[in-house]
Amino acid sequence: MELLEIVTFPDKFLMQPTRPVENIDGELQHLIDKMAHTMYAAPGVGLAAIQVGSDKSLIVFDGNPGEDRPALQVLINPKLIQYEGTIISENEGCLSVPEFRADVKRHAVVLVEGVDREGRPVRLERGGFLSIVLQHEIDHLNGTLFIDRISALKRQLYKKRILKQLRQHA
Ligand code: ZN
Repeated sequence: MELLEIVTFPDKFLMQPTRPVENIDGELQHLIDKMAHTMYAAPGVGLAAIQVGSDKSLIVFDGNPGEDRPALQVLINPKLIQYEGTIISENEGCLSVPEFRADVKRHAVVLVEGVDREGRPVRLERGGFLSIVLQHEIDHLNGTLFIDRISALKRQLYKKRILKQLRQHA
């Protein structure tokens, strides 16, 4: 299966809000399969459609991170319904934000609702690492990157570094 190209910062495509999925059709199933393939190949633990050039409200992630057996989870039109507590997500990273990691303040537990790839309602309550993954991916659907949640100074330094690299490769 072909790998999808991952859109990276500072591409403005990543900063736009996404549109709700209205039809779960063959085209969407194909996109989901390619996203899962791309995520596992990267390797990554989560991927939002906006990161591969689609403005659909859709995320995939592994529900069993760190285990040998992958457990793909698909959420269409996911919404953060409730959250509780605070944790520090250490060394958070993103396939769309290359060569950078930072600590990010996140909710400790989240309740997320959406539908799966068969259109069945899904309600997930997750804590710890999966809570972070869900928040990170849902952020993508709202045009937010994890670097939008760190200090402006750190973000500026990263942006400077990336722009310098892009100039050198131009
Ligand atoms: Zn990301």
